[in-house]
Amino acid sequence: MKDSYEVIVVGAGPAGVAASLICRKRGYNVLLLDKKKKEKIGDKVCGEAISKKTVLKAMEKLSIAPPLEEEIKAQIEDLVLRTALPKNHITFPAIGYMIDRHKFGQRLLQEAIKSGVILKNQCRVKEPIVIDNKVSGVLIKDSEHNSIEILSKMVIDCSGTMAVVRTGLPQEYEPKLNKKVTKADFAPCYREIIQLNHNHDLEGKIVLQYEIDIPEPGYIWFFDEGKKRLNCGTGFIKQGKHATKSVKSVYFNALEKYFPQGTYKTLDGRGDVVPIRAPLWNAVGNGLIVAGDAAFHADPLTAEGHGPALMAGSFAGEVACNALEQNSFELEDLWEYNLLIVKEFGADHARNRILTKVLEIIGPEKLEFLLKRKVVKQSDLTSAGIMKKRSFMDYLGRVVRCFPKYGLLLMMRKAISTSKAIAKHCEIYPTTPESYEAWKSKILDLYSQVT
Ligand SMILES: Cc1cc2nc3c(=O)[nH]c(=O)nc-3n(C[C@H](O)[C@H](O)[C@H](O)COP(=O)(O)OP(=O)(O)OC[C@H]3O[C@@H](n4cnc5c(N)ncnc54)[C@H](O)[C@@H]3O)c2cc1C
Repeated sequence: MKDSYEVIVVGAGPAGVAASLICRKRGYNVLLLDKKKKEKIGDKVCGEAISKKTVLKAMEKLSIAPPLEEEIKAQIEDLVLRTALPKNHITFPAIGYMIDRHKFGQRLLQEAIKSGVILKNQCRVKEPIVIDNKVSGVLIKDSEHNSIEILSKMVIDCSGTMAVVRTGLPQEYEPKLNKKVTKADFAPCYREIIQLNHNHDLEGKIVLQYEIDIPEPGYIWFFDEGKKRLNCGTGFIKQGKHATKSVKSVYFNALEKYFPQGTYKTLDGRGDVVPIRAPLWNAVGNGLIVAGDAAFHADPLTAEGHGPALMAGSFAGEVACNALEQNSFELEDLWEYNLLIVKEFGADHARNRILTKVLEIIGPEKLEFLLKRKVVKQSDLTSAGIMKKRSFMDYLGRVVRCFPKYGLLLMMRKAISTSKAIAKHCEIYPTTPESYEAWKSKILDLYSQVT
């Protein structure tokens, strides 16, 4: 094995495989590192729902066949937000697949290896190597516990929620990307795949079921995996009064209401964490690009991070290749990546973070009230709905229906106007790093208005 590469990609999840494939297809030598055994790569605790539009776009970018029949567990048509009274629900069109992540991930990995990407598996990246404020490689521990330094021109951190390169940057590294994981940024989750004794009635649906007993964001999910099979789980931020609550027992209590013990068999049950904040506003530094969960690229509302990781990895690969062509790896050479992310999904995810904050604040009980009285309607929560100008009569109707809980209505109004302001601010994301700090301070100010 060479000890120097043009590109090192850390992590062979969707972001990492996409990044390494793009770099290899553009002719660069790429080392892909993962701590897992090769045959375990792609196997991750996940809801396994993926948007068709995103996955097809990503596969086209990577010149790889879309999900194959044997990788698709079910076709999805709707995302349903439901409260305890089943009549209270909002349905969004959500065309997608329930995908076998392990099989799909293995195929992507094989494609990368076939294209000439060098995989070093069962090797744990410990920290980045930084020379003159440039990320210039990584320090690894291999399967025999040897510590080895590997150098590269570019490093792409796709190591998932631990973000081992980004969080391992020395304090003096500029720009400051080394924010450590905080409890508020992640929701520990417990997820099961269950085989029911009977057919369920959720065909084509992914359901977020809001429950009073589940701490914020407050739902158990039920995703259709076939006539008798469901992918279910819950997760919440473990802080404040919920710090010591067990995710697993909250999950079992909620599940019992819908699928009592004895009516199903558990095929797989495991825990993991999901990021639930807005994306990193800047995810590049000299010699470094951060993609996927490592840069908080999952949707904070739905936890959908698989498609965004594929897209972010592809963008990271493209921008890294452009830098390699110029032989220049400074912050400004990589800045374009941030613009691509904001445009592709960053603005939507930033807006959805406001929505999750509002759902966290109002809680399932009040959400039920708002839905029952039609103070909030399905169409309000789509991108178009949020941006739509409302008439005076429309507002008046909602005021009447919201009686006597006007505080809630005011909060919804505030949240919608903040969402609009965030979307507008994302449209003017700075094209160079110079005006970034001023831009960021405005967006943080907008967020603080909803906390
Ligand atoms: C419970 C749960 C449910 C979810 N449901 C959905 C869903 O329904 N739909 C959806 O789209 N998304 C879902 N997600 C999110 C989705 O799984 C992630 O957003 C996605 O996997 C991110 O891809 P990634 O490539 O960034 O990271 P990952 O898939 O996490 O890949 C990271 C890779 O890096 C490797 N690695 C980590 N640290 C090191 C190290 N130190 N050295 C070497 N290698 C390392 C890991 O082994 C892994 O292979 C869910 C997540 C969770 C936890």
